[in-house]
Amino acid sequence: GPALLFEKTSQGKEGGRRFYACSACRDRKDCNFFQWEDEKVSEARLAAREEYNRSHQPSFTHRQNVDRFKNFVLLPLSKRRFCQECQQLLLPAEWEKHLDHQFLCNISTAQLKSPSQLLYPLENKKTNAQYLFADRSCQFLLNLLTDLGFRRVLSVGTPRLHEMIRSKASQEDCRVRSLLLDIDFRYSQFYTEDEFCHYNMFNHHFFGGEAARETCRKFLYEENGERVIVVTDPPFGGLVEALASSFKKLMEMWKETEKEGHVNKEMPMFWIFPYFFESRILDFFPSFSMMDYQVDYDNHALYKHGKTGRRQSPVRIFTNITPSMIVLPEEEGYRFCTVCQRYVSSGNQHCEICNSCTSKDGRRWKHCVLCKKCVKPSWIHCNNCNCCTLQKHSCEKTDVGCFVCGKAGHKRSACPRLSRT
Ligand code: SAH
Ligand code: ZN
Ligand code: ZN
Ligand code: ZN
Ligand code: ZN
Repeated sequence: GPALLFEKTSQGKEGGRRFYACSACRDRKDCNFFQWEDEKVSEARLAAREEYNRSHQPSFTHRQNVDRFKNFVLLPLSKRRFCQECQQLLLPAEWEKHLDHQFLCNISTAQLKSPSQLLYPLENKKTNAQYLFADRSCQFLLNLLTDLGFRRVLSVGTPRLHEMIRSKASQEDCRVRSLLLDIDFRYSQFYTEDEFCHYNMFNHHFFGGEAARETCRKFLYEENGERVIVVTDPPFGGLVEALASSFKKLMEMWKETEKEGHVNKEMPMFWIFPYFFESRILDFFPSFSMMDYQVDYDNHALYKHGKTGRRQSPVRIFTNITPSMIVLPEEEGYRFCTVCQRYVSSGNQHCEICNSCTSKDGRRWKHCVLCKKCVKPSWIHCNNCNCCTLQKHSCEKTDVGCFVCGKAGHKRSACPRLSRT
């Protein structure tokens, strides 16, 4: 889909040179598309680019994959193979081409229903960063959504949640439906066009064109009062600005489905992201608040609920649903703070001075009277820097000034210019 327009800024200078680069791949090694904003592109280069794109299309279209799947499920168990190297379901006529590849046999119906277990997670940090929910967290999310009365979930980059919703719907009388939007095209082997759209959440691009866009629009239309929510868990290396712009477009899509009903309302949303992005997310969505719930992952060693209890997940739920409605599991130590009117971590103490439960990471934070706010327990107040910080730090650092605007007094992450662009 469309590239994004970036700007190269050098320290202290306004208005650097602008260029287009790939929206989805933040590593030039994965996609080397680069073009200065004002660059003239020759016919030859355009043609070469188109040729390159043509030759890098997936081997089957979504439609073809759906047909293949229909044939695949008709096969007896002994003939159901999945090539691990090509990450592809194989029909008997194709076996020959994959003979020297590793493959799995006897693919069961249960396996076909949980593709996120069958496919290997694309862990490339800068592009896919596929970190799958631990069962506990996925179950919690689904229960929460149903308890809140939602009947439709637009799963944006949450294949495992999508999968759990579908398997629940077929087992029990859980009436929740899900539509998966994801850039990982491997999922098109397992889901029809009404269940999965190949989508890029950094530029709101539907690879399936107008038909896919229409599928999404229809799904967002709240027929028979079936309320819909968007749940998204983007790669953490992703640009918040680009993501926010796409999510606003999804919200806009939702709004347009109902001319009168939605005038002053915002589409409900769960944006799952690390807590240190809180201020960035609130910049774009002031109606959102961050929940204390720690989201856990299966294949992310760092983010797992540690056995020692030390390693805690930094990943949280940001939502525009009233915080008091988000009930967190008491058996995991969360409790309700009546002052803040929300559930908080067991270690999160209500600070009388801030008049809020101030911990972001689940540990007990301490109040600094000089900074007039609560800070991490490991920080100390440095009189040189005039703020609380790590005990080990070099005081000169802030004198150099901000990397973005060059002014002293703040660092790059807090630069007012960054949050405005
Ligand atoms: N925790 C989720 C998975 C989150 S990992 C779960 O268990 O369901 C991030 C997801 O976003 C992956 O599924 C990945 O394929 C998808 N993704 C990565 N980049 C994307 C992009 N540009 N557009 C859409 N989806 C993307
Ligand atoms: Zn409180
Ligand atoms: Zn405080
Ligand atoms: Zn301080
Ligand atoms: Zn200092």
